[in-house]
Amino acid sequence: VRISVLDHGYVEFIEACGHGLGGTDDTVDYDGIHHAVRLDDFEVGIIEAARQSTQGSFRGWDEDSKLLTYLYRNKHLTPFEQAGMTIEVQAPIFVFREWHRHRTSSYNEMSARYAPLPDLYYNPDDALVLQRAEEAAKTVNRQAAGVSVWDEDKIREWLADQAHLYGLQETHYQHGLKIGVPKEIARIGMPVGHYSRMRASANLRNWLQFLTLRLAPAAQYEIREYAKVVGQIVAETFPHTWELFNEFSV
Ligand SMILES: Cc1cc2nc3c(=O)[nH]c(=O)nc-3n(C[C@H](O)[C@H](O)[C@H](O)COP(=O)(O)OP(=O)(O)OC[C@H]3O[C@@H](n4cnc5c(N)ncnc54)[C@H](O)[C@@H]3O)c2cc1C
Repeated sequence: VRISVLDHGYVEFIEACGHGLGGTDDTVDYDGIHHAVRLDDFEVGIIEAARQSTQGSFRGWDEDSKLLTYLYRNKHLTPFEQAGMTIEVQAPIFVFREWHRHRTSSYNEMSARYAPLPDLYYNPDDALVLQRAEEAAKTVNRQAAGVSVWDEDKIREWLADQAHLYGLQETHYQHGLKIGVPKEIARIGMPVGHYSRMRASANLRNWLQFLTLRLAPAAQYEIREYAKVVGQIVAETFPHTWELFNEFSV
């Protein structure tokens, strides 16, 4: 299921790992007792990893949520690296520039050398830009340093000009392709508001680090919108860890 973000973007869950040995069955045996386990429970592998010293197995969440909490609270975070997930993301290139700074994730992005770029450009919502301009003018905001006034009409005009420039750039790009300019060269004028697509894969510990940084108010609005959807997917896929993340993270 693709969850829409911004005007043309999306995040789509592709796959998860972390079920270990005990997370794919509907029951688990411990002390001769059958304990019910959710099918495809992607957090069982975290518990199994934490019990490597004792060769112990998963005992069901009634008992093991305590161990998970202990691990999280005491920052024994390597077992959380045994779970993870892959998502597909369509986002403007400037969002990818921020996202790719999370170097310990793995990425594969579409290549404009081999395929023509889709005709998709980010046009920010006028009302939101005006709101951000007003906030920037009123507060000491590092991103907007030096800007102390905002002119609503001129900002609207500027946004319309930006949409027009996108159109010119697209026409120029298509013209280049038509007359035989190689794709890898035809793309050189593409603005960072152009949409691109990637697969992003990371372990759960890394996704939590990504969320800590990109859900924070200091993160730019656009990547925050993507982080909210990533959080939604993490919440559905790793519900116990998500609860701990919300309870104990600063
Ligand atoms: C609000 C905000 C503003 C930002 N502004 C800027 C900016 O102006 N300019 C800019 O360049 N970046 C900026 N960044 C990006 C930021 O500096 C980080 O690169 C990015 O958030 C990824 O974080 P990370 O390094 O923890 O993630 P990852 O690269 O995924 O690394 C995860 C962890 O692995 C370890 N690690 C990874 N690589 C190394 C290494 N080489 N050496 C030692 N330890 C390592 C660290 O413990 C790190 O926390 C900004 C980020 C945010 C959230």
